[in-house]
Amino acid sequence: MILDFEFYTSFILLNSSIKCEAPIFVRDMAMNEEYREDLNEAQEKHQDYVKLVRKFKKMKPKKLDNLINEEHDRQFEKIDCLNCGNCCATTSPIFRDVDVKRISKHFRMKPVEFEKQYLKRDEDDDLVLLTSPCAFLGDDNACSIYEVRPLACREYPHTDRKRMDPILDLTLKNSEICPAVARIFKTIESNLSR
Ligand code: SF4
Ligand code: SF4
Repeated sequence: MILDFEFYTSFILLNSSIKCEAPIFVRDMAMNEEYREDLNEAQEKHQDYVKLVRKFKKMKPKKLDNLINEEHDRQFEKIDCLNCGNCCATTSPIFRDVDVKRISKHFRMKPVEFEKQYLKRDEDDDLVLLTSPCAFLGDDNACSIYEVRPLACREYPHTDRKRMDPILDLTLKNSEICPAVARIFKTIESNLSR
């Protein structure tokens, strides 16, 4: 599948989730071309990365965490999210009650008003963005509520967390959404095949 126009998937991660619903328009306007190529390459290498994830699943959790966490740090030293914005443009965080309270306070709105204006309940009864791209994503890829953004946004793409093993399938999907994850997979695959 080429991540050119419509992207169809739906996924959830524990209580700090990112969701993506179909159909979602993938913006062309603000994403660095190099990052787009990373995503295209990850889509082309999907089957190789399925095999890589199988290898990950055989590793001891701590070894796996070290491998992915270290590569996360290396890649995010080079990647600039302000030249990308693809997670905010194509997926939705799940908003927890505390997120809604904090963000609505920031806007001096009642939580119920904020929810009505910006959010909806999905088929799992989770609160997700009403529109995509996210209403708080600027044309410059900056988040207009950065200081009070949801926890799920702070944690995305989840490659610096402990216990990567329960979220490997989600991380595989994220390799086609987030160029940093695409590069993490590419580098680890290359290192493991030496
Ligand atoms: S709230 Fe901010 S960080 Fe989260 S999806 Fe929207 S623009 Fe991105
Ligand atoms: S976290 Fe990944 S998808 Fe989101 S803006 Fe940064 S590089 Fe892009």
